[in-house]
Amino acid sequence: VDRLELEGVTVSDLTRDELLGRLRDALDRRMQVCLGFCNANMLLKALCTPAYAASLRGFLLVSDGLGIDLCSALFRGRFFRQNLNGTDLVPAFLAAETAPRTLFLLGAKPGIAEAAARILARRYPQHRVVGVRDGYFSADETSAVIAAINAASPDVLLVALGNPAQEMFIAEHAHRIDARLLMGVGALLDYTAG
Ligand code: UDP
Repeated sequence: VDRLELEGVTVSDLTRDELLGRLRDALDRRMQVCLGFCNANMLLKALCTPAYAASLRGFLLVSDGLGIDLCSALFRGRFFRQNLNGTDLVPAFLAAETAPRTLFLLGAKPGIAEAAARILARRYPQHRVVGVRDGYFSADETSAVIAAINAASPDVLLVALGNPAQEMFIAEHAHRIDARLLMGVGALLDYTAG
């Protein structure tokens, strides 16, 4: 089996290159993909919280870390072929994409996404950050946040709200978000901003 299935949560067993190929293909065909990096903590939350598990159903999930790898060994008798976490995968994706892509950075404390945007612009001059928004907005502001994303219509929306919030945000709103690739990336913007 090329995936781990546990209580309705499906984690694909992809290599990094297979995943990068899938993401490029989705972008080229302008299809929407919601990508999640599933670590043991996220899997545990999903197993304990049916609403969270349900929200992950529309995601392409890949395996992030030793905990989920052990789970895979226990439940399907094999380890995942590769460990795929957002902190490594997103830079690899941005470097591998030679076609120009537009990015929207959503999440982290005020000022962090702007700082990350400046660094991404320097590292990946072929891409363009077309919008940023910090991750500390109220439920009332959600529609305005989505309107800002849609006005920018990015190829890639990086959602860095921590989990479960980032996956819940993506699951709840993806259908009305004008972006192709939506990824829950945890603390990536903090790491990038330095
Ligand atoms: N974060 C946010 N809004 C919130 C809570 C967290 O934007 O309401 C951001 C936080 O600033 C950080 C990122 O989410 O940049 C990841 O947070 P955390 O380290 O708690 O999550 P994890 O890495 O465990 O997913």
